[in-house]
Amino acid sequence: MENIYDVIIIGAGPAGLAAGIYAARARMKTLIVEKGIPGGLIVNTNEIENYPGAEENATGPSLTERMKEQADEFGAEFITDEIVQIDLNNDIKKLTGRVGTYQSKSVIIAAGAYPKTIGCKGEREHIGQGVSYCATCDGSFYTGLEVIVVGGGDAALEEAIFLTRFARKVTIVHRRDKFRAAKSIQEKAMKNEKINIRWNTIVEEINGDGIVESVIFKDTVTGEITEKKADPADGIMGVFVFVGYKPYTEIFKEAIGTDPHGYVITDEKMQTNIKGVFAAGDIRVKPLRQVVTAVSDGAIATVEAEKYIDDLVF
Ligand code: NAP
Repeated sequence: MENIYDVIIIGAGPAGLAAGIYAARARMKTLIVEKGIPGGLIVNTNEIENYPGAEENATGPSLTERMKEQADEFGAEFITDEIVQIDLNNDIKKLTGRVGTYQSKSVIIAAGAYPKTIGCKGEREHIGQGVSYCATCDGSFYTGLEVIVVGGGDAALEEAIFLTRFARKVTIVHRRDKFRAAKSIQEKAMKNEKINIRWNTIVEEINGDGIVESVIFKDTVTGEITEKKADPADGIMGVFVFVGYKPYTEIFKEAIGTDPHGYVITDEKMQTNIKGVFAAGDIRVKPLRQVVTAVSDGAIATVEAEKYIDDLVF
């Protein structure tokens, strides 16, 4: 028989790695396909405070590196590839990547989500030159400078707090007059002397010659337009965007049931609308997107995939 896996897991974030640990430990022939660096979005997080049992100084990378080691130790195979085509309707599912073609009896989609953009003028042109979606990656470039953080959820506030390690001043720009973030995170942000908040404000334009030199704000209540210029002594400012995420469902959405935002619909067993195809982690429709729920999804999806292939007759 050709090289047919019991389960192929797409994505090596916490959901995919947990699925990989459970699958390989259950002696399922397991392949994890990841297009980038293993670890998922949480590798951008410098502080893991709410994952039960995590070491006091745990970071996103340290936590997920250990998960990958565990999957490795149990014998999961890893490959770096981007799946670009899927054929999921038969008992043997076929996945085509840029590097190779893979076959499996079951598939767990744990491809996660990516940061949304504001969509304003000048944002795209300044990515990597003042506009960033990752404080852990780019925060240190703004040591002693001013930065703006756009958003009002957990990510915006946590990352704003993190950025105060480097920046002289951090201004959170939020489109409403109430944060969406958890109360505990709000309290921490409000207490931080380096953090200022600009309520009822959106970013209309990001300007500058190569680097970000100024930002145009619009008041969402009065409509007033104002310009915030970088301090002349700095000449540059940073704009960190944390306005939510979009699921990586582009190649699946024709075949797999999603909600209007593109998140994959599953039942509580992580089963999608296609038999033998499961989804886990941030890519699913779910009320809470955290490492703790991602790993739980991964474990459930694998146990259900195992039951599914046990019932397959070839
Ligand atoms: P989120 O909770 O969806 O919040 C996105 C924020 O961006 C909201 O405040 C939203 O404003 C604002 N926003 C959306 N589009 C915007 C636009 N075009 N312009 C300006 N503002 C815009 O996203 P998140 O903070 O990235 O969190 C995503 C998920 O991860 C959540 O489930 C969150 O709980 C979880 N998370 C948890 C932790 C933690 O527990 N430690 C850390 C990070 C993330 P409105 O409020 O007006 O909608």
